[in-house]
Amino acid sequence: MALLNLKDILAPATRGNYAVGAFNVINTELLEAVVSAAERMQSPVILNIAEVHLAYVDIEVIAAAVIKRAHKACVPVTLNLDHGLKFETVAAAVRCGFTSVMFDGSHLSYEDNIAQTREITKLCHAVNVSVEAELGAVGGSEGGELMGTIDAAMYTDPALAEDFIQKTQIDALAVAIGNAHGRYRGEPKLDFERLDSIHKKSGIPLVLHGGSGISDEDFKKAIGLGIAKINFFTGMARAAIDTLHVAITKRDVDLKYNAYPDIMLQVQESVSRVVAGQMTIFGSCGKA
Ligand SMILES: [Zn+2]
Repeated sequence: MALLNLKDILAPATRGNYAVGAFNVINTELLEAVVSAAERMQSPVILNIAEVHLAYVDIEVIAAAVIKRAHKACVPVTLNLDHGLKFETVAAAVRCGFTSVMFDGSHLSYEDNIAQTREITKLCHAVNVSVEAELGAVGGSEGGELMGTIDAAMYTDPALAEDFIQKTQIDALAVAIGNAHGRYRGEPKLDFERLDSIHKKSGIPLVLHGGSGISDEDFKKAIGLGIAKINFFTGMARAAIDTLHVAITKRDVDLKYNAYPDIMLQVQESVSRVVAGQMTIFGSCGKA
């Protein structure tokens, strides 16, 4: 199947009241885990490559692998730059064939976030690449400390959402409503009233970052209030680590020789199960 941009993969989700999962990949094991889950579940899927993860994988190599796998897939796939921080990284992603870019200007002033995001949308829209941006700041940081802090002062201001979207011309908006990257300290408390008013004012699909740890019920409620893309990675990483831990502490495994390929497959399968489970919760199964 051809790769879709974010706008085109999210439009049916908004109409059909479900969300498309965006799962981070940093190697071909995770790529296969995610795409094979999408194929089993007949679900559209977004593959995230985060700028912070470019310390572990070359953007040209992983993009080529994702594009090749997407063309072989029987489900719609979007290749998204996750938390693009530098203009150069966004440009590199566009050159490598990404169909979507998230520009994270959440650390900037409101005016600078608008100005830089607008520059990104001009570049990306000229080549049919979608743009997601963030208003307010999601707790923690992608690839940052394990448990991020949530600061209500950094939540998305519904009064600014309409102005921000109109001035930047973005295709999707990442919201900060009590969600956080990494693991949550205690139960996450999402501000649904705030989400509802952002939804009423925005008119574009909304994105929930920090999907690992949010309850099924809260996901469903958030989807009903305009969330159409959900970012999920910590839960995948935890499944991978747990599987590795069990595999290498088994006494009958010969760690000196040929155990690695089999352990790699076990990791892939466990991550794939977690991803398929999330797709079921997000309501995207059977929507491919
Ligand atoms: Zn994020």
